[in-house]
Amino acid sequence: MQITLLQHTELAICARAIRTCWQSHSRSDNGGEIDKDLIDRVGNKNKHSSTLEHLFYTFYIQGISRACLQELSRHRIASLSVKSTRYTLKELKGESAFEAFDDRAQKYLVTARSQEVDNASLSALENLRALLAKGISNDLAKYALPESYKTELTWSINARSLQNFLTLRTSKSALWEIRDLALAIFEALPQDHKYIFENCIEKER
Ligand SMILES: Cc1cc2nc3c(=O)[nH]c(=O)nc-3n(C[C@H](O)[C@H](O)[C@H](O)COP(=O)(O)OP(=O)(O)OC[C@H]3O[C@@H](n4cnc5c(N)ncnc54)[C@H](O)[C@@H]3O)c2cc1C
Repeated sequence: MQITLLQHTELAICARAIRTCWQSHSRSDNGGEIDKDLIDRVGNKNKHSSTLEHLFYTFYIQGISRACLQELSRHRIASLSVKSTRYTLKELKGESAFEAFDDRAQKYLVTARSQEVDNASLSALENLRALLAKGISNDLAKYALPESYKTELTWSINARSLQNFLTLRTSKSALWEIRDLALAIFEALPQDHKYIFENCIEKER
């Protein structure tokens, strides 16, 4: 999978929002250490969590499975724009038969780290390709998609909801792929924002 941070809100905006409550704007250091401490104290320690909603992040996520997408989309306090199989399945039409779980197959499928499962995914991919080659429309053929089929999306989320996502999905009880995704999202955050989320991360495997 590949995660790209497309945009984020500067910490100074969140600090400014917090300072609105006390009209303490003159004490700001424009997103420096004083403002960072304020965000941690008010947003995290004092649980005035709504102030963290002023921080917004947009990621471009590539190469996750549709199984993982299904779990990601359960996080309702976020916005998703997802690659549509209805419009893009034609990408398989030009392919010759898939006979091995090689680089060509892995362009379309996430490996499940089990040869037996990967072989089953490969058969499903080949069945799908054959349906499309016969002229079956995308709208019907998509019902034969394996859960391992790769997708991509633009994902926007505020810091409060991202804390909830990272807490739930870096947990060892989360599905391995969304756990990998959550850890990669954390890594893609701007360095000076990571401290807001550090207590949400379960690092040990
Ligand atoms: C290990 C694991 C196993 C899971 N297994 C299953 C499963 O077997 N079946 C299944 O269906 N789901 C399962 N889930 C999904 C889970 O139930 C949640 O849907 C998902 O984790 C999103 O969490 P969330 O609701 O906190 O996030 P969001 O939808 O982003 O919501 C964020 C927060 O906003 C608040 N909120 C949002 N909507 C409402 C609302 N309607 N009312 C009140 N407060 C709201 C809550 O405080 C919530 O925590 C699993 C999740 C995990 C982590």
